[in-house]
Amino acid sequence: MNDCLFCKIVKGEIPSEKVYEDEYSYAFLDIRPVNPGHVLLVPKQHFANLYEMSDDVLANLAPTIKKLGIAIKKAVGADGINVGMNNDSAAGQLVFHAHIHIMPRHKGDGHEHWHGTPYQNSETNKTATQIKAHL
Ligand code: 5GP
Ligand code: ZN
Repeated sequence: MNDCLFCKIVKGEIPSEKVYEDEYSYAFLDIRPVNPGHVLLVPKQHFANLYEMSDDVLANLAPTIKKLGIAIKKAVGADGINVGMNNDSAAGQLVFHAHIHIMPRHKGDGHEHWHGTPYQNSETNKTATQIKAHL
């Protein structure tokens, strides 16, 4: 993808603060971190989002998420780590090259989580049935 920001970062055409690289993936500091040490892990191959990623690449990224999470937690003395992925603009995706956010968290750092709403009667079963129908 010629005009993809993260493809350009992977190729070194746009500078980034790289923290890790292997055959499948490239990891670098997010330019606007949730907290210092916030890393973006991207597949080297261009996929727009999770749905497009090949199972092979996804499987090879998974252990890297763990490796980076542990390293980041130690490096910045974090109390916890959030792992997240935004897919589609409705979910907050701004850069359309699949990427996983690995974000260090500190007690009382002020970042809020989304607020859950309990299901109404029988909605639970209906929703689970709908999901299973698509698997
Ligand atoms: P999204 O909302 O698509 O999941 O997140 C995109 C992330 O990419 C944001 O957290 C943003 O700060 C980061 N980002 C955008 N442009 C650049 C850039 O040029 N360099 C780096 N290192 N991060 C970027
Ligand atoms: Zn790309």
